[in-house]
Amino acid sequence: MKRILVTGGAGFIGSHLCERLLRQGNEVLCVDNFFTGTRANCESLLADPSFELLRHDVTFPLYVEVDEIYNLACPASPIHYQRDPVQTTKTSVMGAINMLGLAKRLRVRILQASTSEVYGDPDVHPQAEGYCGHVNIAGPRACYDEGKRCAETLFYDYERQHRMSVRVARIFNTYGPHMHPQDGRVVSNFIIQALTNQPITIYGDGSQTRSFCYVDDLVEGLMRLMAVDGGPIGAVNLGNPVETTVLALAERVVALCNSRSTITLHPLPQDDPRRRCPDISRARDLLHWSPRVDLDVGLTRTIAYFEAQLARSAAPVRS
Ligand code: NAD
Ligand code: UDP
Ligand code: UDP
Repeated sequence: MKRILVTGGAGFIGSHLCERLLRQGNEVLCVDNFFTGTRANCESLLADPSFELLRHDVTFPLYVEVDEIYNLACPASPIHYQRDPVQTTKTSVMGAINMLGLAKRLRVRILQASTSEVYGDPDVHPQAEGYCGHVNIAGPRACYDEGKRCAETLFYDYERQHRMSVRVARIFNTYGPHMHPQDGRVVSNFIIQALTNQPITIYGDGSQTRSFCYVDDLVEGLMRLMAVDGGPIGAVNLGNPVETTVLALAERVVALCNSRSTITLHPLPQDDPRRRCPDISRARDLLHWSPRVDLDVGLTRTIAYFEAQLARSAAPVRS
């Protein structure tokens, strides 16, 4: 069994990854600066002697001894990554340099959590890994998109120049328990609004599409990508190829929550991609992976999580 570093391990996806790695019998070192992640996301893991939680910012060097690295540290929702755009780019680029330097010293494999955002507002559909993207270099999303693109470049250059073993996952919209309730992402917003019978806030007319992958499927894909043998393999898309309009998502959430919420329309944010859907042929061929959890099942589990969270925050505090 291995000692595995997960940066961003107290975040939404990272906390599920830490749990799965521990369940496999590994030791996990979770490194996080708690910018968007929380100790609560790792609450169930803290008692496990194989789990270690270290508060650290990946823009600074890190000297630890591990056998494998998953680099997830970076805020992922537009509200959070646009709050301090300079720090977002620093986290992506300097975080990548430091974690690659660590992997190089230790001669261990490192996986980068990249993103479908490297495709920007795509003019090719669905997006395969060979598509070079359509990103606005000056827009409000650029700190994240270009930061992640530069991080990918660093991964390929360290691979070539220092003969390292790297893996790059281009993650598409993922949802599930442990999403931050205030990060403004569409699934968490709609569920909280529906559970509290507040108006559902659709940006634009709701005809824009996304493809939503349940977090357990995504984590399985990340672990398979880390484990796959072979030399340079390039980027691999991980996401659910079932495309849904934002309006259809709103209607499903309202129905599953038995909510009285009505749908309201609001302005579309600048540079909001019109369509997004992964071509996952590479993941199917290389990893024999495809998502298994369908949208209704995943939404039902996520709704149960937020229901419990809302009940907890409404409960009277015991003195
Ligand atoms: P998240 O915001 O819940 O988790 C990110 C974690 O990184 C948080 O715990 C945060 O505190 C930590 N972090 C941020 N800056 C840091 C720094 N400088 N040093 C140390 N820790 C830092 O987001 P998530 O949805 O779990 O995303 C995880 C990774 O997956 C990110 O790299 C993100 O870009 C990528 N990704 C996520 C999605 C998605 O739909 N959730 C889609 C594409 C890519
Ligand atoms: N680094 C780190 N931990 C290590 C080794 C390196 O954080 O165990 C950081 C270090 O700060 C360095 C960066 O990774 O700046 C890149 O390392 P690399 O060896 O590629 O470059 P150099 O040390 O020559 O800058
Ligand atoms: N969105 C929406 N209402 C919300 C939050 C988001 O209509 O309350 C839209 C948003 O404009 C985008 C889509 O839902 O078109 C997905 O947004 P999210 O922030 O979850 O992810 P990303 O845009 O990064 O894919």
